[in-house]
Amino acid sequence: MTPRILIVEDEGPLVTLLRYNLEREGFAVSEASDGEEALLRAAEDRPDLILLDWMLPLLSGIEVCRRLRRQPESATVPIIMLTARGEEGDKVRGLDYGADDYITKPFSPTELIARIRALLRRARPELAAEQLDFADLIMDLAAHRVRRAGREVHLGPTEFRLLQYLLQHPGRVFSREQLLNAVWGRDVYVEARTVDVHIRRLRKALNGAGEADLIRTVRAAGYALDRPVEVQNARAR
Ligand code: CA
Repeated sequence: MTPRILIVEDEGPLVTLLRYNLEREGFAVSEASDGEEALLRAAEDRPDLILLDWMLPLLSGIEVCRRLRRQPESATVPIIMLTARGEEGDKVRGLDYGADDYITKPFSPTELIARIRALLRRARPELAAEQLDFADLIMDLAAHRVRRAGREVHLGPTEFRLLQYLLQHPGRVFSREQLLNAVWGRDVYVEARTVDVHIRRLRKALNGAGEADLIRTVRAAGYALDRPVEVQNARAR
């Protein structure tokens, strides 16, 4: 799975550093630079974990934490507070208000990533999965390899992420827009038809001679990963 992390931090260089390190580790990243935006992003992006700075413009980190915990959809999302050295009182208050962990600035990205992984393992064990499979497809996330019916499938990085996302939600129909947000990210501007191009490449790589097409095109709606039988039935109808 691709865990989504929301970074709430008003120091630009730190955000850049965090984004770089998190993306390199395979996380999807979104950002907010003040407390109000943090609440908005948390509601819209539904992150799997939030990194929350304590000293923020508009709303303090503690207030953001308190409000997140009051909303049903963010009541249980793991939160790691980023605090400045010596703000001992903040740590205690933060944990009181529902933060799960804290890390003191300056910290090493390696240390932070270890904390993130530990929290995610506890909160969302399915995000720690190392293999995804569907029908005769196997995606090995650790080795970054895909096999279909025992045959190695070679995919470009975008096709790999696209397939990974579809494998995480088999049978569900996604619009081009939803796929763009999930696979390319919200901050990247890409045209909707780019999705079609990558779906075409993915199909070409996945479907060997005589093999059924595992990707279903839903007219005017989008795409879904479906079992071949269901695909045939849908066509027959
Ligand atoms: Ca700050």
